[in-house]
Amino acid sequence: MTSSQPTAQHQYPPLLIAAPSLTADELSRLAALGPSVREMSGAARAALSEDARAAIKVVASKVFNRFGPEDMDLFPNLELIANFGVGFDNIDVAAATARGITVTNTPDVLDDDVADLTVAMMLGWSRRIVAGEAWVRSGRWAAGESFPLNRKMSGAKVGIAGLGRIGRAIADRLVGFGMEIHYTSRREKETPGWAYHSDQVALAEAVDWLVVAVVGGAETRGYISHDTLAALGPQGVLVNIARGSCVDEDALFDALASGAIAGAALDVYENEPMIDPRFFEYDNLLLQPHQASGTVQTRRAMSELQCANIAAHLRGEAVLTPVN
Ligand code: NAP
Repeated sequence: MTSSQPTAQHQYPPLLIAAPSLTADELSRLAALGPSVREMSGAARAALSEDARAAIKVVASKVFNRFGPEDMDLFPNLELIANFGVGFDNIDVAAATARGITVTNTPDVLDDDVADLTVAMMLGWSRRIVAGEAWVRSGRWAAGESFPLNRKMSGAKVGIAGLGRIGRAIADRLVGFGMEIHYTSRREKETPGWAYHSDQVALAEAVDWLVVAVVGGAETRGYISHDTLAALGPQGVLVNIARGSCVDEDALFDALASGAIAGAALDVYENEPMIDPRFFEYDNLLLQPHQASGTVQTRRAMSELQCANIAAHLRGEAVLTPVN
């Protein structure tokens, strides 16, 4: 055998299936790991032969694609689901654990970008930056009209619901705006004197801005309810960068229609990207296309961490960022 011939191990590499929403760059990074990569949708996966499915050891998933027990059962030898994204509500982790499948995510590397966009959304909402831009371009400013006064953000009270990695990065930034920081988490945390509240309703009652930074998934479905929005009040602004499922959207539309809150800045929704058309009816909403981690630098870091987890697993080493 010449040195260019594959070893037995390389001849039958563990096959890897990649989520359809991974980009060409992300796929080529996966391909460089060695195992042959197939990118395929749920229907295409199910159409694979039994032998082809049995060869699959790794799934490279992405937050936008669900991977449930019925998907896992297609691959009897699956060992690892490496998710692209810190949130893993797209994966049924309990089902994976029950099948002995390791799940990994991509924490930490996106905290800065998500926190940056959160602050930008808050400033964008309060200073009406999008409307200001349209005003200039429309010629109304040149025609002598004055842009309406808007709302000061610095010095206001902000509540962070979920003081995890991202919640803390947001709070750290808002300290720089002289804001009074309040938070809720399942337990009180060590902070530089930030005010702890036992739940999201008590938190909402105490603040002008309520930022949702809890995990997604079944446990936090409808976490921001009618009661929380009523407690936030007519001067209160909701900011959601967590998951659409964390907010009861019917309750949100009721609150917007009745003026129970002042407005909202949202990066995430139920049914993305086909979001509820009622979102387009309100100009006291600032809407972003689930792009909080969407910089070239951070998406590359997320892809590299996804690959590092897969590479460690293929070498028989412990994965870097396990979820289960
Ligand atoms: P993290 O460090 O694990 O923090 C998660 C927070 O959720 C913690 O504060 C935790 O509470 C809270 N939490 C967990 N389970 C809960 C439950 N059952 N009920 C109430 N609170 C619960 O995660 P992270 O890295 O900060 O990320 C947070 C979330 O941001 C992700 O899960 C993801 O959904 C979202 N995200 C969105 C984008 C975007 O593009 N918009 C990007 C990245 C992440 P404790 O403090 O009590 O532990």
